[in-house]
Amino acid sequence: MNLADWNRQVEALTIPSKAFINGKNTDAISGKTLACINPANNLSLGEVADCGPEDADLAVGIARQTFEQGEWSSVAPAERKKILLRWADLLEKHSEELALLECLNAGKPISDTVNVDVPGAITTIRWTAEAVDKIYEQIAPTGEDTLALVTRLPLGVILAIVPWNFPLSTTAWKLAPALATGNSVILKPDQKTPLTALRIAQLASEAGLPDGVLNVLPGDGPVLGQHLCLHQGIDGQTFTGSTAVGKLLMQYAGQSNLKRTFLELGGKSANIVFADANLEKAAQMAAVAGFYNSGQTCTAGTRLLIEASVYDEFLEKVKAYSENWLPGNPLDPASAMGAVIDQRQLDTIQRYVKIGLEEGAELLTGGKSVDLGNGGFYHQPTIFKNVTNQMRIAREEIFGPVISAIPFTDMADAIHIANDSPYGLAGAVWSNNINTAHKVAAAIRTGTMGINNYFGGDITVPFGGFKESGNGRDKSLHAMDDYTELKTTWIEFE
Ligand code: NAD
Repeated sequence: MNLADWNRQVEALTIPSKAFINGKNTDAISGKTLACINPANNLSLGEVADCGPEDADLAVGIARQTFEQGEWSSVAPAERKKILLRWADLLEKHSEELALLECLNAGKPISDTVNVDVPGAITTIRWTAEAVDKIYEQIAPTGEDTLALVTRLPLGVILAIVPWNFPLSTTAWKLAPALATGNSVILKPDQKTPLTALRIAQLASEAGLPDGVLNVLPGDGPVLGQHLCLHQGIDGQTFTGSTAVGKLLMQYAGQSNLKRTFLELGGKSANIVFADANLEKAAQMAAVAGFYNSGQTCTAGTRLLIEASVYDEFLEKVKAYSENWLPGNPLDPASAMGAVIDQRQLDTIQRYVKIGLEEGAELLTGGKSVDLGNGGFYHQPTIFKNVTNQMRIAREEIFGPVISAIPFTDMADAIHIANDSPYGLAGAVWSNNINTAHKVAAAIRTGTMGINNYFGGDITVPFGGFKESGNGRDKSLHAMDDYTELKTTWIEFE
């Protein structure tokens, strides 16, 4: 499909406008709505229900009742699997519609939403559904006169709060294991990007998910989100978003009922290039690592660590590859980079460019916002050179297409710089020496580390952070641990 085809599809598209509670599309009790903006042109896509605490109380009550009635929580895993697989099939049937909604709402290139976000969400749900009736529980080695069963039970009512940068992917990463293990869920998408979450909830209902098991409440963070996080009726909260808000969620849990809290937070990942690497491939991927999704990626390779002997030569290559990442209309399949989410985010990126210059870093390329003449929010791919790891542009998450390039002298220096960060989410090492690659990969305190690749991984492997990048894990069988409680049943024979 080309740009004209997608434009035609936009005309026929229905924009979800209501919350989804107890299996029904519903207005907010207050009647309030919030305009949903397309970052590509700053125009409203439509009004969406803006839920508040009273909607939250209603939805939590329904989710709790549903959980206790057992229509979903107590059925055999094979039954849940059937419905989740039907849901995945429906998502597949509606994949163009979902890709379009995600593109329009998040400013992501349509080529990404078609090829990455939507198929990734489908795979997440399908894989998790397929797994759930193949997991056995445990009998502890206690001796002949006793029998101790170690089982996993669903937590109960789960609150899932997700961000705007990967709305559909992060939603699927939470919903698949939460639902597969039998919980009821309240999902709060980011107020800017509720559309795909609302649509997939409607499709879950069509697939046969009982009413009240999945409820989607669009609304803001500080009022609706906080109210939900402090709610006594929620047993676990799973969150993807900023480290600052993640810290608040830990406090909310402490102030309320100690609800289980699992966090996927920010990053400032080190992409480490040694002189003996395949420099061409490493440079091409350094640009991908920095500029994919306009750099609004928690795992972005924003600290580019380069061995000093090839520093300038390598950066020239990355600069050349940055030409592949000029922003364009997200609806055009030829655009590799789309829009930044909003004016505020664009201002933040510009503020950091100024900070970098004031700190003494040198702008190798980019540094400016881009006016495509359509009112949208765009930014040039940007590379700072001569950055030290103490500069704010090396320590703080900018969340835009900005790479901070730092030279290093040897392996110990690279490891020291990479680990000298409050974050520990992702990263990579590029070297053709197996010893260097392995030693560096093992030494970096981070949840995912690539060797001669960046952004590697799929649904079979866990995803999450060390340090202030969070706790808990999305994806793989490990994700199910975050949504279940371990129970021991101790039996003594007479
Ligand atoms: P954010 O923390 O501002 O918002 C995330 C969500 O939290 C939104 O739904 C928001 O409404 C809600 N929220 C905000 N304040 C709240 C409060 N007081 N109580 C309850 N909920 C509240 O994050 P953002 O700027 O929208 O998203 C970008 C961040 O997400 C970046 O830091 C990025 O690194 C991180 N992220 C992490 C991962 C990961 O898996 N580690 C993935 C994607 C994004």
